[in-house]
Amino acid sequence: MRDGYQIFDTHTHIGYGLHHGRRTTADELLRAMDAFGVDRSLAIPYPVVADHRAAHDEIAQACKAHPDRFTGAACLYPYLPRDVFLDELKRCVEELGFRALKLQPQYHGLNPLWPTSDFFFEAALQHKLPIVVHTGSGIPYALPSLYIMPARKYPELKIILGHCGGGGMLLGEAIVAATVCPNIYIELSSLMPHNVAEVLQHVPSNRLMIGSDLPESLTTELSKIFLMNLAPEVTRDIFWQTAVELF
Ligand SMILES: [Zn+2]
Repeated sequence: MRDGYQIFDTHTHIGYGLHHGRRTTADELLRAMDAFGVDRSLAIPYPVVADHRAAHDEIAQACKAHPDRFTGAACLYPYLPRDVFLDELKRCVEELGFRALKLQPQYHGLNPLWPTSDFFFEAALQHKLPIVVHTGSGIPYALPSLYIMPARKYPELKIILGHCGGGGMLLGEAIVAATVCPNIYIELSSLMPHNVAEVLQHVPSNRLMIGSDLPESLTTELSKIFLMNLAPEVTRDIFWQTAVELF
């Protein structure tokens, strides 16, 4: 809680990423959350891990130790043998209680337009999991506009465009995607305040949420929303209500 608002950070990571060599522990994340007043975080594995089961278990452990602070998300390489992918996703939902599935196009290489990718969206839908997709770096598959296709094909599926296209260059695509698809949501990390204001001109606040990505970015990413002095109901949606309804 900060300034009277509950806060749900919808983009954080726990674990070790092979690609960048970073380790983020649950304790480190909790310290950053406590320092700012974040109530709850969606904890996602880093996209490239040595052992996806161990990565999910580490997050499940954090959720179990702090059920009031963490919600877990699955992140799995889509080209694992299909039964391995589906079994682990099922385990994440049914045994670990996870509430979202992350897609990381720059490391996963999944083209959302190809029919061979349908299984990914159908698996999320089957488990009633929103998909958080990283957008921005990693184009072409990280282009926000490409997610219009699965969003239209699966109208019950909820797709969150992480980083909202990653900044000014692809911001417009993310706005168009969310405008034409009521099941596309936007997570506002990486945007500058004037970009957030532009998003708000087109996309209702009940489809917007905040994310920090990394502990050292938390204060900056979350403070920018407070400093915009938005209407209280808009601020409440972005910090809490949209995420609570999704996850
Ligand atoms: Zn991230």
